[in-house]
Amino acid sequence: MPLNILIVGAGVCGPALATLLQHADPRHTITVVERASSLRTAGQQLDVKAQGLPILEKMGLRGTIRPLLVAETGMQFVDAKGKSLAEFGVTGGGKRNYSLSTDREIMRSDLVNMLYEASLKRREEIDNLARPEEKGGSLKYEFGKSIIELSQDDDGVDVKLSSGETGRYDLVVAADGQGSRTRRLAWGVEASAAAFHSLGIHTAYFSIPRAEGERGHGEVYLFARNNAELFRQAYKEPLAKQKDAFRKAYSGAGWEVDRFLGAMDDCDDFYAHEAGQIKIDPLYKSRVVLVGDAGYCPAPFTGMGTTLSLIGSYVLAGELAKHKNDIGPALKAYSEVVRSPVDEYQRLPPATINAMFPSSRFGVWLLQNAAWALAGLKVDQLVHRFLPAENVNGRWPIPEYAELNLPVP
Ligand SMILES: Cc1cc2nc3c(=O)[nH]c(=O)nc-3n(C[C@H](O)[C@H](O)[C@H](O)COP(=O)(O)OP(=O)(O)OC[C@H]3O[C@@H](n4cnc5c(N)ncnc54)[C@H](O)[C@@H]3O)c2cc1C
Repeated sequence: MPLNILIVGAGVCGPALATLLQHADPRHTITVVERASSLRTAGQQLDVKAQGLPILEKMGLRGTIRPLLVAETGMQFVDAKGKSLAEFGVTGGGKRNYSLSTDREIMRSDLVNMLYEASLKRREEIDNLARPEEKGGSLKYEFGKSIIELSQDDDGVDVKLSSGETGRYDLVVAADGQGSRTRRLAWGVEASAAAFHSLGIHTAYFSIPRAEGERGHGEVYLFARNNAELFRQAYKEPLAKQKDAFRKAYSGAGWEVDRFLGAMDDCDDFYAHEAGQIKIDPLYKSRVVLVGDAGYCPAPFTGMGTTLSLIGSYVLAGELAKHKNDIGPALKAYSEVVRSPVDEYQRLPPATINAMFPSSRFGVWLLQNAAWALAGLKVDQLVHRFLPAENVNGRWPIPEYAELNLPVP
């Protein structure tokens, strides 16, 4: 039996899952509610690593995504006066050979738009080509609405939206990110809060105009470890307050920081949050299931959030199809199958955070000198030369789901 499905959140997972579900069963009735008034296309470069790209290729998006991948230019450490201390991933001629960063990166706006368009295109194909037995399904996006109430019984989930509308669904998918309200409604405030493991870092991303001679995108990432309460309060307020909090943390930092802070006021893609990991098991409660950051955000520094979102969307749609839309066994299987990549990509080597984000002058000095030594030893080149081939597409083998009827099996 096809399902009546509510997906909460039109970020990366929402549209990806909507596309996959329609491939599996064109007769599903799918509603995606998004709190923002349109697609939220803020955000900077996202890594599409390991299994991420092969999954997009299975969805038939190879030709669409390849031209959107961003040419990474590597990483440079500078001191407060702008003097270069260490450089990774760029050769003397300015041509990139090896890099600690990846060449599988995409602007968040491009990825979100691509997946949204793919979901609509699939609907159009179904509507145009469907055989009579495939008729009956639908896909609709509802912007400017969020979920405010949720209750479930053995046969369905009752939901109330901020618009006052109510609905009953067979399945509700929480694809509403790290701070998922759906998770809070289904698991309860305490269990949901306990799932969030703060890494004690506050992060802002935005783009700025490039100065003359600068390469690549003009992107700024700010990380702060102090004033936790100031930041937490600011996240509940308008963006101007959040910008003030970062300005306070960074004023007087030297180098080009004043230019970045000036441009921050005018940027229209500012996004800030408290970096942390979501850990919860199993990933479902009866007919409500968590996907992507809502269920297993690995933290931005791992670079694996988008890949895990794509893995999660693929496995969830795959298990539903494999179990012929029988929700109980499908959600159990989904939760078990994604556990291995989730655990692998959430693993942070001990002391990584303290080493990467020092909070004392001595820590900064240590980081700069370690970077200088590693760059001198050309560690990035060695890593690439000896990296096992399987690490390019990830160790965890992507399960095959013939039932998904994907364009590329
Ligand atoms: C605006 C934005 C910018 C980002 N920028 C970066 C970045 O630069 N670098 C990086 O590494 N990661 C960034 N991220 C996080 C990154 O997108 C995710 O880590 C990853 O791609 C997982 O995607 P997701 O679909 O699970 O969650 P997300 O991409 O976070 O999407 C969740 C969606 O749910 C919506 N939503 C939230 N609450 C509700 C609700 N109650 N009702 C309805 N809808 C709701 C949100 O508006 C959002 O569109 C950003 C996320 C957002 C939302």
